[in-house]
Amino acid sequence: MSENLVNSLNVAKFGGTSVANYAAMQNCASIIKNNPKTKVVVVSASAGVTNLLVDIAHTAMSKQQIQQKLTEIDKIQRAILQELTQAKLVAPKLQQLQSSLSELALHEELLHRADLKDALLSHGERMSSLLFSAVLMQIGVKAENFDVRKVLKTNSEFGQAVPDLEQIKAAATQLMLATLQDTVLVTQGFIGADEQGNTTTLGRGGSDFTAALLAEALNAQTCEIWTDVIGVYTTDPRITDTARPLPELSFEEAAEMATFGAKVLHPATMEPALRQDIKVFVGSSREPEKGGTWIARDCETEPAYRAITRRKEQVMVTVKTPKMMYAQGFLQKVFTIIAKHKLSVDLITTSEISVSFTLDNPANSVLERLNLDTIEELSQFCEVLVEENYDLVTVVGNNMHSAAGVSSKIFAAVADYNLRMICYGANPHNLSMLVNDTDSREVVCALHRDLIE
Ligand code: ADP
Ligand code: ASP
Ligand code: MG
Repeated sequence: MSENLVNSLNVAKFGGTSVANYAAMQNCASIIKNNPKTKVVVVSASAGVTNLLVDIAHTAMSKQQIQQKLTEIDKIQRAILQELTQAKLVAPKLQQLQSSLSELALHEELLHRADLKDALLSHGERMSSLLFSAVLMQIGVKAENFDVRKVLKTNSEFGQAVPDLEQIKAAATQLMLATLQDTVLVTQGFIGADEQGNTTTLGRGGSDFTAALLAEALNAQTCEIWTDVIGVYTTDPRITDTARPLPELSFEEAAEMATFGAKVLHPATMEPALRQDIKVFVGSSREPEKGGTWIARDCETEPAYRAITRRKEQVMVTVKTPKMMYAQGFLQKVFTIIAKHKLSVDLITTSEISVSFTLDNPANSVLERLNLDTIEELSQFCEVLVEENYDLVTVVGNNMHSAAGVSSKIFAAVADYNLRMICYGANPHNLSMLVNDTDSREVVCALHRDLIE
């Protein structure tokens, strides 16, 4: 590959709705064809497919029910296959994937083995990338379906595998770079492989992360995230139609937004971009002409309030011991148990005899949910209170620690609501509050109206 092309390489990622059906895939194919710098394409599973696979992997079902889910997946993929001019060539490969999927879905140990779950989940991206590479070739782009597991090496933490950056860089350089000279590689987001060659996954929404990791490994100049909205908005456009797309964002702001609920980006996406200074673009594959958001190290503006995010389904856990004042190591004991169960804590507040913290607890997560074992273990040395039905609302901005009046304006906006817990972030970019889930939409709207509109 020539020096020039290496330096201007673009990695483009297309999300689930962008590859949901044949017509949507055609939009993506045009976007790729129109930018000769795009040489690596990362795709998600077609919309709905991963949810169906998660159902199969996590819920006890009868064979008949499993079959029903498989039929639903089959319908989505077959509808695309039928539109391909090369359908006959692609059909046997799709059939192969469907057979291995069905075998895993009916495997007796599926519900108890994390490695089987990840192998099953990987089929969504493997099918969509196969079909999409055919769509691309159909419009005259030289493309190849590339198995990302040859490159995206991870540890063996199934469901939330951690990428091995050195191995990824070495493998990408060796196995992808030369081909990019004259071929577009279409590969899978979300999936990887551990040292033993077992398939792993990066967590829900992980395809954005894959794109950024490959961009980093290949020294790309830009990474495009094509989705169903024309950029990153001031708040989730599904919450209020006063939300508007942001022309620019800093890496830090985008990372905070993603961490605190802006589903448009996977929370880890900004890490590789930041390390390698790769500009990230977010735009709509349906309306590419409308532009989008550019995320970079430096922005022209640094507003105190940039965006409002919401993360749903939070639980608040309070652990209480009258002995805390004297009990050295109490916090350590609590957090060892939390870590053992792989739960991730977001907000923390402490008082003399108690500690409260919030945990993410969404129903469709592939991660462990707060479970009875955890509570029982904590109960052995302290009183435990679990409160549900909370959402976390976060104001993302700049210099929030130091600028005068920032918090008073925020509190004035939400004066009518009960805030269960409030936390300044450990960096100057966020202030979060835990609110009743029934209030959270109004809280977001009030903050958006008073701080941003
Ligand atoms: P994809 O399948 O392309 O990865 P996602 O569904 O993961 O797409 O993310 C896109 C969705 O993220 C949007 O449809 C939107 O509802 C939601 N979203 C949440 N917060 C924001 C935000 N601040 N800006 C834009 N979209 C957001
Ligand atoms: N298909 C995976 C999911 O739905 C990964 C992704 O779309 O980014 O979570
Ligand atoms: Mg996504």
